[in-house]
Amino acid sequence: CGIVGYVGHQSAQEVLLGGLEKLEYRGYDSAGLSVQHDGALESIRAVGNLGRLKEALQQTGDGGVAVLAPPATTGIGHTRWATHGRVTEENAHPHYDPGNRVHVVVNGIVENYMELKNELQAQGAHFTSETDVEVIAHLIANDLDEHGLVEATRRTYNRLRGHYSFVVQSSEEAGVLVGARKECPLIVGRSEGEQFLASGIPAFLAHTRTAQALEDDELVVLTADGARFMTADGVEFERETHEIDWDA
Ligand code: GLU
Repeated sequence: CGIVGYVGHQSAQEVLLGGLEKLEYRGYDSAGLSVQHDGALESIRAVGNLGRLKEALQQTGDGGVAVLAPPATTGIGHTRWATHGRVTEENAHPHYDPGNRVHVVVNGIVENYMELKNELQAQGAHFTSETDVEVIAHLIANDLDEHGLVEATRRTYNRLRGHYSFVVQSSEEAGVLVGARKECPLIVGRSEGEQFLASGIPAFLAHTRTAQALEDDELVVLTADGARFMTADGVEFERETHEIDWDA
């Protein structure tokens, strides 16, 4: 339903929560976020509104996301409107692979998920959610060692059918976010030393008005320094920026 991503120098947790609040008007049944910390991915999820997610963050205590110092500066967040699988904490995003090396937040629907899930289960994969989108994390993780995060994400994108946008991060590549879109909105927000991704512009307007929209069958790779665009076929290209002239 709502997607946010951040890589930069501010507290990712705060930027992501602030962004999700701006997307709240769309409605949702659960929420979650995941940040990178010392080469590990830590996520927290809750059924209910963002207030519940904040409570859960406060309760994490030692080693939890809430008390990280210095705070993480890269992460992804999501508000879920369930389409496949019940409204439970396990079904809330981010979803992850069995090795906890890839975290993903997804809007929309993966139509061929059953086929992909059956294939992965036949190889021994264990799934922790009932959703259609967990397959994305598994598929990317399986290609990670051989191809790296960007190429693994591109290959996985090309195996999916349906309509979705998603953002992924990996414990193997600190300070990198990869986004992709097919028939669901995903917009990049550009700033000096920090970059944003969101399903709606209001999510990052407090930080920047410089935006770049992703079109169907395109991927974007964000680091704190900038954004690199490529087609689903792997061809890199430049995308013009435009200035948002309305208020959130
Ligand atoms: N199909 C996914 C799910 O049910 C994503 C739903 C959404 O767009 O929030 O978890």
